[in-house]
Amino acid sequence: MFKKIKKCRLCKNDKLNIFFNLGNHQPSNSLKKRINETIPSIPLKLLFCNSCKTVQLADTANPKLLFEKYVWVTGTSDGAQKYAKVFYSRVKKKLTKKKSFIFEIASNDGTFLNVFKKKGNRVLGVDPAKNISIVANKNGIKTLPEFFDENLSNKIKQSYGSPDFIFARNVIPHVEGILSIVKGLSNLIKEDGTVAIEFHYSKKILNELHYDSIYHEHLFYFSIQTLTNLFKKYKLLPFDVDKSPISGGSLVIYFSKKRKNIKTKLKNLINYEKKIKINSLKTWKKFKNDSKKHSEKLLNLIKNIKLNHNIFGYGASARSSTLLNYSKINHSYLDFIVDKNPLKSNKFTAGTNIKIISPMLAKKKIKNYKYCILLAWNFKREIIKDLKKLKFSGKIIVPLPNKTKIYEI
Ligand SMILES: [Zn+2]
Repeated sequence: MFKKIKKCRLCKNDKLNIFFNLGNHQPSNSLKKRINETIPSIPLKLLFCNSCKTVQLADTANPKLLFEKYVWVTGTSDGAQKYAKVFYSRVKKKLTKKKSFIFEIASNDGTFLNVFKKKGNRVLGVDPAKNISIVANKNGIKTLPEFFDENLSNKIKQSYGSPDFIFARNVIPHVEGILSIVKGLSNLIKEDGTVAIEFHYSKKILNELHYDSIYHEHLFYFSIQTLTNLFKKYKLLPFDVDKSPISGGSLVIYFSKKRKNIKTKLKNLINYEKKIKINSLKTWKKFKNDSKKHSEKLLNLIKNIKLNHNIFGYGASARSSTLLNYSKINHSYLDFIVDKNPLKSNKFTAGTNIKIISPMLAKKKIKNYKYCILLAWNFKREIIKDLKKLKFSGKIIVPLPNKTKIYEI
C-alpha cells in the first residue's frame, strides 16, 4: 500500500527530518460507493531533506491506488476551461513556428490540448488514468494511457518525433519516479523547444497556510530554487515564470536547453524566496504549528455553528479531503457536499463519510440551509456563482487562505 522512504527521492541523501505528522489518511480520491466500504489508511507526514532542501512526503502510497481511477476531470471546472485559453495565449508567444507539435504529460480529458489543436497545432497527450484517457480519445485528443518516464520518452520520440513544446501541469510533484520524468523531458524536447512545468508553489503554501494541499498524490512541495536545481541537473535551464490563475497558488516555470536571458520577474521571485528563508526547516516548522492552530479553530467554529444550524459543504476536491480529515470535520457536522463532477455523485468522502451529491439534487435541499463551507475555496468565485444559481442565500465559511472567514452570499 505504501513505502516509507529512507533516502531523499531527489538527491539520495539520508539526513531527513520529519517535521509535520498529519496522521493516517485514506487516499483523497478513493471515494466510497458504500458508506461501510473499508479503505486502507496511509500515513501523511512531511519531511525536509537537509541536503537539497526539498520538502516531501515521508511515505509513498502505491500510485496504482491513487491514479488509475483518478476522478478529477479538468473539463468539469469552468475555471480550468478559461485558464486553458489563457495558458495557450501565453505559450503562443514562446512558440517559434505557426504549427507546432505540443505534448502534454498527464493531459487528463484533453481540455488544455484541445485549445492548441483548434489553433492548428499537432497534439499528443499521455495520462495513466485509463477511464479518463478513454474520454480524451473519444473527444479527438490522441492520449496514451501510460505513465510518462524516460522509457516512454524514447518510444514517443521514435513514433511521433520531438515536440516543440512540452507541458506538465501539477504532475511533476506527484510522481515518485520524478528523476526518470525529468530525464525523459530532457531527452524528448527539441533542442530549441520549451518545457513548462506547473506546480503548487510552496511560497503560497507557507504564506497562506495551504496545509490542505498536503495529500498522498502530492509528494513534493517545491520552491523555485529546489525545482530549478533539479531541472538544471538534466540540462533544462529556467528562463521565465507565470502565475497560474487556478489551484490557489501555482506557478508555471519555463525551461529551455539553450541558455536564455532570465526574465526579471523570475529573478525577483528567487530573491524573495531567499529573503523569507523558504528553504529552511525552521520556516516549515512554523508552518506546521500555524496549520495545527488553524485546524483546531476551524473545528471549534463548525461545532459552534452546528449547535443551532445545519451545514453543508461545496467541492469534494483532493484538498478538501485533507482539510476535513486533519480538522476532524466528518459526517456528524456536514450533511452533504455538493460537487459538479458526475463521477463523484452519490459517493462518500474517504475517512469522513460525507455523502457527495450533484447540484441538481442539492437545489432541492439547500434553500433550508444557513451555512455552507467552501471546501474547494480556491474556486471561490466560481462556486459563489454556482451557489447563487442554486438559490442558496445563507452564509459561506471560507476556511483558507490564512484565516477562516464568513461571508454573506
Ligand atoms: Zn534531497
